[in-house]
Amino acid sequence: KRNVLIIGAGGVAQVVAHKCAQHNDILGNIHIASRTVEKCQQIVDSVQEKGSLKTAGDLQAHALDALDIAATKALINKTQSQMVINVGSPFINMSVLQACIETGAAYMDTAIHEDPDKICENPPWYANYEWQRKQLCADNGVTAILGVGFDPGMVNTYAAAAVKEDYFDRVESIDIIDINAGNHGHYFATNFDPEINFREFTGRVWSWQNNAWVKNKMFEVKRTDDLPVVGIQTSYMTGHDEIHSLSHHLDVPNIRFWMGFGEHYINVFNVLNNLGLLSEQPVKTAEGLEVVPLKVVKAILPDPASLAPNYTGKTCIGDLVKGTKNGQEKEIFIYNISDHEAAYEEVGSQGISYTAGVPPVAAAILIATGEWDVSRMVNVEELPHRPFINLLNDMGLPTRIKDEDGDRPLHF
Ligand code: NDP
Repeated sequence: KRNVLIIGAGGVAQVVAHKCAQHNDILGNIHIASRTVEKCQQIVDSVQEKGSLKTAGDLQAHALDALDIAATKALINKTQSQMVINVGSPFINMSVLQACIETGAAYMDTAIHEDPDKICENPPWYANYEWQRKQLCADNGVTAILGVGFDPGMVNTYAAAAVKEDYFDRVESIDIIDINAGNHGHYFATNFDPEINFREFTGRVWSWQNNAWVKNKMFEVKRTDDLPVVGIQTSYMTGHDEIHSLSHHLDVPNIRFWMGFGEHYINVFNVLNNLGLLSEQPVKTAEGLEVVPLKVVKAILPDPASLAPNYTGKTCIGDLVKGTKNGQEKEIFIYNISDHEAAYEEVGSQGISYTAGVPPVAAAILIATGEWDVSRMVNVEELPHRPFINLLNDMGLPTRIKDEDGDRPLHF
């Protein structure tokens, strides 16, 4: 398969565009579409300024409302794109997926579908929307790879590697730990769209424990780990898409997700939340103005993309896996370290966008070469993990493993 249509023009799309350009000898022509064509053009300009295109080829910006399925199909056909990387807002997933099903293009995304009217839906998340189209994908021979960012995405591959390689006879638990030890220099900012970011934390926190869903409150359960490079870090149990798919596809009784937050972030978040400023329900001011508090907060916070130039420090995201081997208890940590400044230097984005944006491009390459062109809908843990980890080692997201034999690069 050749030619890629990137949908969305935010921080992650910027990374996807640069990385597609670096591999356009395999991927073919590259098109970028979002509602605001100027944002797409800025990305095109930045790819050209950095000279990221590996060989001569098309790189074009387009205006598209991806909720319009007919318009999305028309653009897929016009650009002859056989692969679509959807890194737009999670509200557009189901429309873009439908356009792919009807045109036969391969589909990739990095987040679960969300309905703008429902905050923090309950598990089973993928079954609420995406998996309902599984049969349709299979009937039409459409390859759809769900959640192929970093988390979800790489961490699913790490889980698959832990279970399918020879590390354990039995895996008891997978704890996905996501630490951003970076510093953006602002009093308070979110690393991606505040609306999406806060939605992750305002509802219930779900985890998979003893083969059942367990419900907690946000910031109720925490852990502290001494992690490679970033050192001692506290993280909090958080609900996340991949817990659902991993619990479905891998026979592991305990799967949890932990996200690192500093005390300052939690304090500010709690104040905003307790005052009702994270609410999506409109309120009327004394002057008769109707406002949505969350939209106001979003409007006054720094634009996540603007954080990139001054972001310093590193991220550490990985899977801490525990189980038994030859009757002995054992644990391994499979992880990646990324650097905000290096990401900015290479593609003009901060590290969070970088870790999310590189994996879907690796996935597109594996679809193009046929290794991942499976003609059905899958989550990342269902696909061969070895080529993905190996490819990403060479694309800027190296994987390492820490176990009883030490801490070393992981390649197969
Ligand atoms: P941004 O909010 O910066 O960008 C979202 C883009 O979506 C905007 O450029 C917007 O463009 C576009 N968009 C929204 N609605 C439409 C529409 N109807 N039609 C066309 N385009 C639309 O997000 P990020 O770049 O930070 O993140 C992108 C995705 O990646 C999100 O889904 C996010 O949840 C996910 N993500 C995944 C991670 C992972 O590791 N798995 C980590 C970080 C993010 P415009 O305004 O021009 O329409």
